[in-house]
Amino acid sequence: MFIGIGYDAHRLIEGRKLVLGGVDIPYNKGLEAHSDGDVVVHAIMDALLGACGLGDIGTHFPDTDDRYKDISSIELLGKVGRIMEKEGYRAVNVDAVIVAQAPRISPHSEFMKINIAQALGLSPARVNIKATTTEKMGFEGRGEGISAQAAACVEPA
Ligand code: MG
Repeated sequence: MFIGIGYDAHRLIEGRKLVLGGVDIPYNKGLEAHSDGDVVVHAIMDALLGACGLGDIGTHFPDTDDRYKDISSIELLGKVGRIMEKEGYRAVNVDAVIVAQAPRISPHSEFMKINIAQALGLSPARVNIKATTTEKMGFEGRGEGISAQAAACVEPA
């Protein structure tokens, strides 16, 4: 089995919808990005690609490529799943933590699990989504942005 890690952070700005784990979350700000800015899915994709020794999302989906402008990150996660399959790997499990002072993540985390599991063809039981605040410390704590970390295990298919 192989393990990978991923990290991502995006800035919160007005006039964008907030998408985390493929769920539209009601909030007065959203994450600035070339794609939909779904930090937790970005961290998960990097963890999966890392576990397979296949680089990172920047190499597979460059933000200079207009095909990926405002694209759903869940759609990109499905593409990562297909890249892994082609290279002879399948995901075993995924664990992630979203770092945000606000909004509250827990009411949405079950839906995120289902979206992520579906994109990867995994059982939702193999996907875990956690969230924490930073007790108002740092950029997440000041509400300037949201970050996410992820770990993933893969095995030869
Ligand atoms: Mg990102």
